[in-house]
Amino acid sequence: MSASVVVVGSGPAGFYCAEAIHKKAPGVSVDIVDRLPTPFGLVRSGVAPDHQGTKNVWRVFDRTARRDAIRFVGGVEVGKDVSVAELLGLYDAVVLAVGAPVDRALGIEGESLEGVYGSGAFTAWYNGHPDFSGLNPTLRGPGIAVVGHGNVAVDVVRVLGRTRSEMAKTDLPAYAMEAVEQADYRDIYMLGRRGAAEASFTPVELRELGDLAATDAMVKAEQLPETVTADDPKQQKLKEKILGTLRVYAENRGDTPRRLHLEFFASPTRILGDERVEGIELSRTAVRDGRAVPTGETFVLDVGTVITCIGFGVAPLAAVPQSKGGHCYENEAGKVSPRLYAVGWAKRGPSGVIATNRQDSASVAHRLVDELEAEAGREGGPGLDRLLQSRGSLCVDYAGWERIDQAEQAAASEEAPRQKLTDWASLRAAAEG
Ligand code: NAP
Repeated sequence: MSASVVVVGSGPAGFYCAEAIHKKAPGVSVDIVDRLPTPFGLVRSGVAPDHQGTKNVWRVFDRTARRDAIRFVGGVEVGKDVSVAELLGLYDAVVLAVGAPVDRALGIEGESLEGVYGSGAFTAWYNGHPDFSGLNPTLRGPGIAVVGHGNVAVDVVRVLGRTRSEMAKTDLPAYAMEAVEQADYRDIYMLGRRGAAEASFTPVELRELGDLAATDAMVKAEQLPETVTADDPKQQKLKEKILGTLRVYAENRGDTPRRLHLEFFASPTRILGDERVEGIELSRTAVRDGRAVPTGETFVLDVGTVITCIGFGVAPLAAVPQSKGGHCYENEAGKVSPRLYAVGWAKRGPSGVIATNRQDSASVAHRLVDELEAEAGREGGPGLDRLLQSRGSLCVDYAGWERIDQAEQAAASEEAPRQKLTDWASLRAAAEG
């Protein structure tokens, strides 16, 4: 079948979708468009630098990018350089694999003070994303509040808690290492509004917090339940593992240079300060019918920085309706409207690990291919190239990314896998070679 598809977004969901389209219909041309000149989405800009093993999944996507029928077109922002409507005019089908990049807000007083950061911005900063490398977070102490008990919060506290030698084999940018090293905080508070049984971090990730060289993970034993129960045996096992790890942390003394306090039943009510963060007020909660309800008691933590890790929403895109609450685009099993599809977090909201996208993207890709035959015949890639050229948009092909990749690897110290280029000008210059 000779048809053309454009996948918007080159993260795991987009790459898995492109691969599945290719496997089912090798004659279909697939363009993968990304606003960055670098591919791989959250694998490059979200996954924590000390999880290089997870980042290695890029090798799978690299194989996809090298297929003759598949093309990477970086440096093109859909919604700015080209609209979804224009893509629908040029291609037989359009797939939104744009993720959910908007940090959710707590919706409390003080959230706009200096020293409050969303996890999307913060994780992009420590991953060298060119739009966030200038974030320059203050990281003022004496404490830092990390709000949320999910795996993103775990990533953030690891980066805040690790030492230079623990980060030597990573691609953490030098500016982020210096900021963490020079900051005056001793205490990191990881705040969950519910209890250990309801936390959404996973056992392996939680266990890693016990391996930090200079930061003890601590828990108040009285906040832990005697037992945990779940509906299915698999969940039960996971929860028991989490409880077991937390019991170990409850024994830690915290005589390390930095300390991590996992605090349960604590819901932020106000961020204190005039211009910048000077504390966080929390309501002590109890869990009733699975929900956190205030007990009437409040307390204040002495923090100079707040990092919210409470989930994400999708960005507005002209003519693409969002679900209620904005956690994904409205879709039915990945179909948004005729010839327009969504995969990954754009489809199902911000949940699941990288591997979740493999099957999820494939199911949308198969449906797309089944529906494609009747639609084939649009111009595809050459039409996009002409349009972008007429608009003077920067386009970086896969060879351009390879030049960036080589420049980053060449600049790395002996142990580090790469030293990332973290600003637009350097990325552009390296892509041009
Ligand atoms: P998440 O797992 O949904 O966790 C969000 C956390 O924020 C929950 O603890 C939630 O508490 C809390 N929260 C939400 N609204 C709040 C509010 N108003 N006040 C206080 N707390 C609030 O989301 P995530 O951590 O952003 O992770 C997103 C997905 O990426 C997850 O599927 C995660 O597993 C995945 N991920 C995986 C890895 C890994 O595998 N290593 C790393 C990073 C991310 P409630 O439960 O009470 O709502």
